[in-house]
Amino acid sequence: MNNHIMPTYARLPVCFERGEGAWLWDTDGKRYLDALSGIAVCNLGHAHPAVTAAVSAQAGKLVHSSNLYRVGLQEHLADELTAASGMDNVFFCNSGAEANETAIKLARKYGHVMGIEKPAILVMESSFHGRTLATLSATGNRKVQDGFEPLVSGFVRVPYNDADAVEAIRDPNIVAILVEPVQGEGGVRIPDSTYLQQLREICDRRHWLLMLDEVQTGMGRTGSLFAYQQMDILPDVFTLAKALGNGVPIGACLARGKAAEMLTAGKHGSTFGGNPLACAAALAVLKTLRENRLAARAKKLGASIAEQFRAELKGNPYVTEVRHKGLMIGIQLDKPCGELVGLALEQGLLINVTAESTIRLLPPLILADDQANLLVTQLASIIKTHTLQK
Ligand SMILES: *Cc1c(COP(=O)(O)O)cnc(C)c1O
Repeated sequence: MNNHIMPTYARLPVCFERGEGAWLWDTDGKRYLDALSGIAVCNLGHAHPAVTAAVSAQAGKLVHSSNLYRVGLQEHLADELTAASGMDNVFFCNSGAEANETAIKLARKYGHVMGIEKPAILVMESSFHGRTLATLSATGNRKVQDGFEPLVSGFVRVPYNDADAVEAIRDPNIVAILVEPVQGEGGVRIPDSTYLQQLREICDRRHWLLMLDEVQTGMGRTGSLFAYQQMDILPDVFTLAKALGNGVPIGACLARGKAAEMLTAGKHGSTFGGNPLACAAALAVLKTLRENRLAARAKKLGASIAEQFRAELKGNPYVTEVRHKGLMIGIQLDKPCGELVGLALEQGLLINVTAESTIRLLPPLILADDQANLLVTQLASIIKTHTLQK
């Protein structure tokens, strides 16, 4: 059926036609509870009226002009994002990988300005930064890189959540650290609460840029608009994409201070980046997140869902841990559990398994309490019956 689509995804046998809030309906009319949000994209749920209205109105006015001209909505969105983040400026693009490419180019430029000819960026084991050549080279997962060598050089890797390993680095070519505040694809790995502060301190001392990949953690997901806002630091650079447009493709690389001065006219660009349609969507997303206090909702609901899972799965021999930061939830099993995704699908529940043995839940931030209860009851039952069979 998919024979004219490159088989880059082992797709599940379902096709969705319509969505509303946390619900999706497939082409046979079957209903599903979406606990994945298109992988942390639809944080406002599906077909959110504010986003629909903004996109529809903008589509009837102007979809695209060009970055050769001023783009009013892009300027407005940049104002909103910098005010909300403490950054100075923004480059808009169309995806997480592109946002990280921007950060990587920015860091290299910073190195050259500092007189370092072969600048290198410190990256983490089990990280994920995208599928372009530079971002897959930065990614700490051999499977993502395999078959695409030669990789882009200029990345030095250390273990995640290990500030001592960063401190021990003596390479004079390092100019920046690129790190996720919580590793998503890597298995919902939540670092110690002081980790980012320690990295900030090392970066300050060594004149490195602290660059955060908030592509998955951003836009309220972890309990604050941006994850670093719970750690009492400011990065020099951070990237957004996934939930920024609630499904309308848009990415962003934000910078402050010296880092904000690196990419000058002619040094970077994007045809579509920050076009009026995408910016209208993102402005509606920001407004809705704020007006409905959805980051706070994510924090509270995430804690309650994690607590419920811990209670439900207590004593289960295969479940080793339930981790969460806001509505980024990981249920750790002690063995590969990819088959749970298909079992849940049959029962009308959309979940994900990452890093082989971590059940990853990224429900929309608008999830209602009764939907959260349904998610816990249904998934706990699937985990119990399935693991008991083995
Ligand atoms: C999804 C993701 C990316 C890649 O984003 P794309 O839009 O797929 O290019 C990069 N970094 C993190 C942390 C992600 O979760």
